[in-house]
Amino acid sequence: MKFYSTRGGDVANNAAEAIVKGLASDGGLFVPEYFPDIYKEIDKLIDMSYAERATEVIGSFLSEYDNEGLKTACEKAYAKFENGEPAPIVKIDDKTYVMELFHGPTLAFKDVALTLLPYLLRKGADMCGIKENILILVATSGDTGKAALSGFADQEGIKIMVLYPSDGVSDMQKLQMRTQEGANVNVVGIKGNFDDCQTTAKNIFSSKKAAQLLKEKNTVLSSANSINFGRLVPQITYYFSAYCDLVASEQIKKGDKVNFVVPTGNFGNILAGYYAKRMGLPINKLVCASNDNNVLTEFFASGVYDKNRDFYKTISPSMDILLSSNLERFVFELSGRDGEKTLQRMQELKSIGKYNLKESEFNLLENDFFASYADEEECRETVSSIFEEYGYLVDTHTAVALKVLRDFKAFTDDKISTVTLSTASPYKFPQSIYDSLTGKNLNDAFKACELLEKETAEPVPEQIRLLKTKEIRFNDVIEKEAVFDSVMNFIK
Ligand SMILES: *Cc1c(COP(=O)(O)O)cnc(C)c1O
Repeated sequence: MKFYSTRGGDVANNAAEAIVKGLASDGGLFVPEYFPDIYKEIDKLIDMSYAERATEVIGSFLSEYDNEGLKTACEKAYAKFENGEPAPIVKIDDKTYVMELFHGPTLAFKDVALTLLPYLLRKGADMCGIKENILILVATSGDTGKAALSGFADQEGIKIMVLYPSDGVSDMQKLQMRTQEGANVNVVGIKGNFDDCQTTAKNIFSSKKAAQLLKEKNTVLSSANSINFGRLVPQITYYFSAYCDLVASEQIKKGDKVNFVVPTGNFGNILAGYYAKRMGLPINKLVCASNDNNVLTEFFASGVYDKNRDFYKTISPSMDILLSSNLERFVFELSGRDGEKTLQRMQELKSIGKYNLKESEFNLLENDFFASYADEEECRETVSSIFEEYGYLVDTHTAVALKVLRDFKAFTDDKISTVTLSTASPYKFPQSIYDSLTGKNLNDAFKACELLEKETAEPVPEQIRLLKTKEIRFNDVIEKEAVFDSVMNFIK
């Protein structure tokens, strides 16, 4: 299958090439030539394990990858999750389900893709005949960084460097990254927010001069952010898998529609849901949940994307984003796959910080999406009320989604089954969760874990407990202008 750039100026001949390049040479994102109809295989998928379902879904795009190799890689990746289950479903109320995507090595949903990406990339590079070293440059709003470090640590022929906003991630997220082991890893804090990190990384990706200087050091760049199709494609699986599990357990009948509620930042997770729908999955609405940085709520309400607004640091930091990269892939579809139009919009976004949809495009939005947001107080209130009502502890990002689910139900009177994606362990944000439940502010993240465990009887995950005594390996905090020098220094 071919992959096209959303900006019309680049084509990858196969998935391997799209994954290795990460970003298209014109600055656009790679999108598949077409969406394979996987839903017609639903009977087969229902009887399969998660790794087998993943092999079917991913293999439908990555047709050049050897199927047996892919299956083995999926089995290995998903064995790293608690009970070997990357996407278990919990029923919390009538027709209300939560899909827990955070039982992987780093306790965030990013693990579902990043436990597999090293294989997809290594194999892809071999298929493309790439002999150079690969440098993965990652911008993170908190969770991608650790998940990517964990996935790529000590991988032969690959180095990884992570940029995180130095004051924009939780204490636990920061500690997870700064204690990462491995000879091929580097972690630097950036003075700025996630958008600064992402723009800095993207600028290096699309700079011909940077590519030349790296080439002289026998290095090519790739990305582990959701701008990389290889990050996106494993995320499609769990939408299918949730549906299969609901049918298999007779909660729904085959062909019934379901809604998915997704706590959204860079629009990667929810875009995978949109792709699943295009692949035939009977999804009614994809519900886009934002925090106070509600640029997407506004986009879905008005058809205008406008990033000229205040940036807020919230207690759901992984969603503190004003430039949602993957929206570009969705807007490309809305435009009827018009690369020229998409390029023009992205130029407007760069120069004046906004663009708008045509009325005919705007009218298409409500077929697939509903959008709303939760402010800080609503987020805390939801953590607390969900625990009181159901004895179920959720993290702040999932709480944002569950608040928006309430809005959705109130607004639409929708009665069909709804799956909310739970994206992180509450113990990645222990102070915010403890504060939500008790109204008490704690400075010490580990103290908060201890008290939270007492209060809720929800055990602290081992990955968090072990952090307390791990050596901190990375201390650098730099200006974004200094990133490229730091990259060159790292690879030499
Ligand atoms: C990354 C992340 C999100 C946002 O996902 P996107 O794919 O960027 O929209 C939400 N919650 C958590 C916990 C995350 O780590």
